[in-house]
Amino acid sequence: MGVIRSLKCRECGKEYRPQFRYVCEECFGPLDVTYEFPDIKRETFESREKTYWRYFELLPIASKSNIVSLNAGLTPLQHADKLGSKLGLKEMYVKNDSVNPTFSFKDRPAGVAVSRAREVGLKAVGCASTGNLASATAAHAAKAGLPCYIFAPSDMEHAKIAQALSYGAEFVAVEGTYDDANRIASVIGDSKGFGIVNINMRPYYVEGSKTLAYEVAEQLGWQVPDTLVIPVGSGAMLNAICKGFEELYSLGLVQEDDVKNMKIVAAQPHGCSPVVDAFKRNSDEVVPVERPETVAKSLAIGDPGDGMYVLRRLKQYNGIAEEATDDEIINGILTLAKTEGIFTEPAGGVSVAVLRKLVEEGKIGQDEKVVCYVTGNGLKATEAIVGMLPKLQAVKPDIEAVSAMIG
Ligand SMILES: *Cc1c(COP(=O)(O)O)cnc(C)c1O
Ligand SMILES: [Zn+2]
Repeated sequence: MGVIRSLKCRECGKEYRPQFRYVCEECFGPLDVTYEFPDIKRETFESREKTYWRYFELLPIASKSNIVSLNAGLTPLQHADKLGSKLGLKEMYVKNDSVNPTFSFKDRPAGVAVSRAREVGLKAVGCASTGNLASATAAHAAKAGLPCYIFAPSDMEHAKIAQALSYGAEFVAVEGTYDDANRIASVIGDSKGFGIVNINMRPYYVEGSKTLAYEVAEQLGWQVPDTLVIPVGSGAMLNAICKGFEELYSLGLVQEDDVKNMKIVAAQPHGCSPVVDAFKRNSDEVVPVERPETVAKSLAIGDPGDGMYVLRRLKQYNGIAEEATDDEIINGILTLAKTEGIFTEPAGGVSVAVLRKLVEEGKIGQDEKVVCYVTGNGLKATEAIVGMLPKLQAVKPDIEAVSAMIG
């Protein structure tokens, strides 16, 4: 069982009993879960079920009976030798989270938050979403038997809307940006007592994503990669991955020095890159982007909640932030598909494109052991690339005609 000690303010350190609370009443800082970790061996985890719930002692659920599981996680860490050699890297891996039950990494944070909502007895859940969180929350809510309310921009990809509706969620399509949807979800969630997974359940939500660190370490034989390339929207996942590696060394499961020497790369799309812009200005202040415009809709968060913490992580971990244009993103999607057989949505294309750029510029060396996080599935966003692919020419069902065409 995960034994929660407290919710601790990330800014002033004040600790609270683990109740339904998500900001510090002293300084309005975000709250993080702290634990009483048990002594635990690598072998104990290795012998368990092949989902991220194998790490349940390190997750904020007190009783196993409250777990709402779609068997997400323990996704492939694919040795990307073909893509690596194309980019000029000797040892590269893709963490392929596009094959989760709802086809993105969001099954990790949503699954943990919905489980916790059930544990504390909330009667409904919901989220503000750029796309993937909608389905991840709706699917887990369906499994838990809880009503689910989605707040999202109305210009979301069609597949993502169809998917979320299929799980039975109530879908509020907001004519505006993600930040507009987020503001509305926040007020409605608090007034109606809904567990909005990425707002008032955020301390629990972010814990799910740290399993992206645990799994990579375990899959590398409890080694820490040199370099991690992580797409950034709100920045919650990047922060959580860093927290995950730190917990592994405090548990004695990986080497402390290896964690301290990691290089963390934050990847954003050019049309919504407030964190990259701040990094390049050498500023601690993230200036919100009013009107994000990018093919990478999952990352179109103009005012990222954890943006300033991403900047801190980059300082702490020899970090780099870099962006990719829409063309570079599409190119990243196609390169990944054609070398590794992995079809990702634009967010994954952002990771690949930024990695390519940094290797070309010599900011990532060919000997570095690199893990590139690919966080969502290409089938969710085919409108992003369909115009870039060869046009189909229909042909009569006639062998001669087909032979002439193939040449
Ligand atoms: C949400 C999302 C991200 C960004 O995660 P944050 O925690 O918001 O930074 C990256 N990739 C995909 C596919 C997503 O859905
Ligand atoms: Zn505080």
